[in-house]
Amino acid sequence: MAEKILVVEDELSLQETLTYNLKKQGYEVEAVGDGPSALEAARRIKPNLILLDIMLPGMDGFEVCRILRNEMSTPVLMLTARDDEIDRVVGLEVGADDYLTKPFSMRELIARVKAMLRRVRIIREEVSASQGESADRLLYQYDDLLIDVGRREVKLNDHLINLKPKEYELLFYLAKHKGQVLSRDQILESVWGWDYVGDSRTVDVHIRWLREKIEKEPATPERLITVRGAGYRFEG
Ligand code: CA
Repeated sequence: MAEKILVVEDELSLQETLTYNLKKQGYEVEAVGDGPSALEAARRIKPNLILLDIMLPGMDGFEVCRILRNEMSTPVLMLTARDDEIDRVVGLEVGADDYLTKPFSMRELIARVKAMLRRVRIIREEVSASQGESADRLLYQYDDLLIDVGRREVKLNDHLINLKPKEYELLFYLAKHKGQVLSRDQILESVWGWDYVGDSRTVDVHIRWLREKIEKEPATPERLITVRGAGYRFEG
């Protein structure tokens, strides 16, 4: 089955060029030109990837990304036109997985799209492989912390914790390697993908966010331990 890509771009000629080139690669493509339509289309077609322009009528790409982030884990490739936008995209405020600066070549875009989709497929295979290990669901339980891999849910003291997709993937990755010291580069490569454009501070920021959600005292963590000069270790 063809993977679905949602193209959100208000500049019609670019929207058409993107659609044409992605279809040529065998993807199913739906294109819209404003923020509200992007939300509607994303909820309806549940795309495998979203190409999201930032300056859009109705609601900008930052807002669209922020809303969708809470609803789905679909990777988002932001299309930026200005340097000050890049700072916000990379600054993790928005939660985009990657970005391309306009103007970009179609070759570059296709390469990026393929890499991102490949990354998602690998995660999905890892999850289904681990689910195969124990009937239909895999649970990681550490005292009052429960990671439900099948449902992509994390509970603390029986209360559901609201994790962003990358926070969840990071926690899942750490849990799979409980007790091992993992370097920032290792974590970046496994959770964000080798082609990720950010730097290792991304890992630190996500660890901090996770600590705020799963540690009793985030300032003196007992679960997500910093190993000085080496990286992080999950203690359970
Ligand atoms: Ca635009």
